[in-house]
Amino acid sequence: MFGTTHLAVPALTILAICIPAGPLAADAKDSAQPPDDAKVLFAGKDLSGWVRTNGSFFGSRPALWKVADGYMEVVPGRGDVITKEKFGPDFRLHVEFWLPLMADKKGQARANSGVYLQGRYEIQVVDSYMNETYADGSVGALYGIIAPDKEAQNKAVKPPEEWNTYDITFRAPRAGTDGKVTDKGHVTVVLNGVTLIDDGTFDKLSGGALDDKMGESGPIRLQDHGCLVRFRNIWLQPLAK
Ligand code: MG
Repeated sequence: MFGTTHLAVPALTILAICIPAGPLAADAKDSAQPPDDAKVLFAGKDLSGWVRTNGSFFGSRPALWKVADGYMEVVPGRGDVITKEKFGPDFRLHVEFWLPLMADKKGQARANSGVYLQGRYEIQVVDSYMNETYADGSVGALYGIIAPDKEAQNKAVKPPEEWNTYDITFRAPRAGTDGKVTDKGHVTVVLNGVTLIDDGTFDKLSGGALDDKMGESGPIRLQDHGCLVRFRNIWLQPLAK
């Protein structure tokens, strides 16, 4: 990545002049392209498909995170952001994230965010590079419910300030009219091409879930945990039930 905005413009301009065809930005090369049947939730330009929530209700106010150079970045205090559209019960989600270095902090206080599936089930985003924390709160965890495979996590984790990819396959728990789970949910979490959770099953919500309507569709939600975490290239493919 370019260090500052004022450098990025001339650098890209020079590339555009020198290379008439093909990928221009070096950054584009290391990021995957959405499949044809994918619904793009964030293409790097604006937050028009997103709104703000304070973490406990479905919001309707505009999302006020920063957007720059193809990514969105948490603006601490401006709350979680959620997609206007709701998804489920079953889908595949691709999302890329970047963590700032917060070397003076430890455990959960280091760079931290989260990708909430349907606003209810948090796939943890935290800097787990040489940073110990409880297993079901480390990167790749279904927060508080399923811990990632430790060996796989060691293989997958990158130092902060590099882009990471999550490829998540999700089947929501099914619930009866009484709200009780009739079929457990299933989740597979792949970080940087390495499987951290392989078809894990679960029948409860993460802490801070937007609601408890487990059988219903819900938004994709990104957490404001007070850290300058970035996200880009977010897309979703519905799966057959
Ligand atoms: Mg988190």
